[in-house]
Amino acid sequence: MNIVWFKRDLRLEDNESFLEASRSGPVLPIYIIERQLWLQPDLTGRQYNFLKQCLDDLDQSLRNYGGKLIVKVGDAVQILAELKEKHSFDKLYSHQETWNRWTFLRDVEVRVWAKKNNVHWIEKTQHGVIRALSSRNGWSANWYSSMNKPAFQKPTRIMFVNEHTDPIPANCELKLDDDELYRAPRGGREEAKKLLDSFLNSRGEKYRSEMSSPLTAIDSCSRLSPHIAFGTISVKEIYQATTDRLQNLRHISTDLKKDWSQSLKSFSSRLRWHCHFIQKLESEPEIEFRNMNSCYNGLREDYFNPTYFEAWKSGHTGYPMIDACMRFLTATGWLNFRMRALLISFSSQHLWLHWREPSVHLAGLFTDYEPGIHYSQTQMQSGTTGINTIRIYNPIKQGLDQDPTGTFVRQWVPELKDIDHDFIHTPWLSPNKPKGYPAPIVDEKTSRQAASKMLYAVKGKPEHKEIAREVYVKHGSRKGKQTTGRTRISPKNRLQGELNF
Ligand SMILES: Cc1cc2nc3c(=O)[nH]c(=O)nc-3n(C[C@H](O)[C@H](O)[C@H](O)COP(=O)(O)OP(=O)(O)OC[C@H]3O[C@@H](n4cnc5c(N)ncnc54)[C@H](O)[C@@H]3O)c2cc1C
Repeated sequence: MNIVWFKRDLRLEDNESFLEASRSGPVLPIYIIERQLWLQPDLTGRQYNFLKQCLDDLDQSLRNYGGKLIVKVGDAVQILAELKEKHSFDKLYSHQETWNRWTFLRDVEVRVWAKKNNVHWIEKTQHGVIRALSSRNGWSANWYSSMNKPAFQKPTRIMFVNEHTDPIPANCELKLDDDELYRAPRGGREEAKKLLDSFLNSRGEKYRSEMSSPLTAIDSCSRLSPHIAFGTISVKEIYQATTDRLQNLRHISTDLKKDWSQSLKSFSSRLRWHCHFIQKLESEPEIEFRNMNSCYNGLREDYFNPTYFEAWKSGHTGYPMIDACMRFLTATGWLNFRMRALLISFSSQHLWLHWREPSVHLAGLFTDYEPGIHYSQTQMQSGTTGINTIRIYNPIKQGLDQDPTGTFVRQWVPELKDIDHDFIHTPWLSPNKPKGYPAPIVDEKTSRQAASKMLYAVKGKPEHKEIAREVYVKHGSRKGKQTTGRTRISPKNRLQGELNF
């Protein structure tokens, strides 16, 4: 018999490890709820709530085959050892997991245990991330080639091994808050399919032009991220459905075609970015904690201001767009890309906070928390990679651009509900100061200029160029172009690397 250890692949479709295990003998499908994992500071009740729904849904799918999902609560090695004792299995199937340091170290322990106990642990590739990647050259081409392979079918017949299943612990048993969300996403594969269908056939038409404003992004973005993070649907399935839809556009009228075509192409690129960013963490797990480019070490560490941090976390910085985004995210568990970038840019640049603590706080707020994307993006927006253009978002300009009528701000910062339209993004300039809303904690222009000066000073150091080149060779996107460790990167290639991260 084989154990199938479901991790972040909570589906039966396009699941290579599940298919292969069920073809090679009776299976015991397990999910392990690891108490220690849920005690980590980047994990929260909102993610657990989503997970519970995904587990219910997966259990139902297995029941349709006459089996069930065996949930075990505890330490992975201990549980696997108990199962080995009882069922004497010699093959353990799962996907390759690229997640936080805790799961990385747990997998190291499982590997040692498996070797010692003659268990063959077969880990299959999930999405388009490559383990032990020797060179970034050709990564993109490889991604497209794996995305274009046929999806793995569901097995036709499965023989199940019976085993006791533990009750799923309540949030409080794992020391997690209930963390009920406003407009909470629902877990499970059916929900993922519904979201994909509504995005590809109606909501996604103006994705490209509407993804940046939080007002429109909520409907125009796919909102598939928690499903991708928990694996209720695979990136390949989404990519192929998007490609099919793009091909079928020829049947729709020309005036609609342009928006749809641009939107679907942008969306499809982002599916590649998903794996591109996770690849960075897979290739260098340390970037969860330390700067991708060591030239930036020591820049912010000694300037951490806890008062600023608290104001940022609670949505009381005095900058309406920052505060509205933070409060919206806290209430809903989701935020669009541009506003996530704005939040971290503000904490790293204007407040000069080291990115690590703010990123852990944001991780806990995101239902879709995905460490590989999260820490790479955080570092990019904080200017610590050395290979990306230094971008410092101006929160006033972003407010005016993305929420010109102030609708979003008024909804999420009720203290500003009645403020005059002209001052919605600069309430401190209003002759009638809003009651209960703070003055800006830092001056926008002064703090932006100071941050810019410090970042460019590091960028100008002689050693920066060499280290940035190494970062680029390890992590930069080549868009199919070949770059070796020794090749000098031309300015054009470097720019392309920056644009494509
Ligand atoms: C500081 C910061 C932290 C982030 N942390 C996370 C995270 O923890 N988990 C996460 O899934 N995304 C993260 N993102 C990326 C992005 O903001 C979200 O993927 C996106 O907002 C999710 O909404 P959606 O599913 O509607 O995206 P859509 O725009 O519909 O995109 C579809 C999918 O493509 C992928 N994708 C989209 N944009 C990006 C991007 N810029 N980089 C990499 N992949 C992308 C995601 O898997 C997403 O679900 C972060 C971005 C920033 C700036």
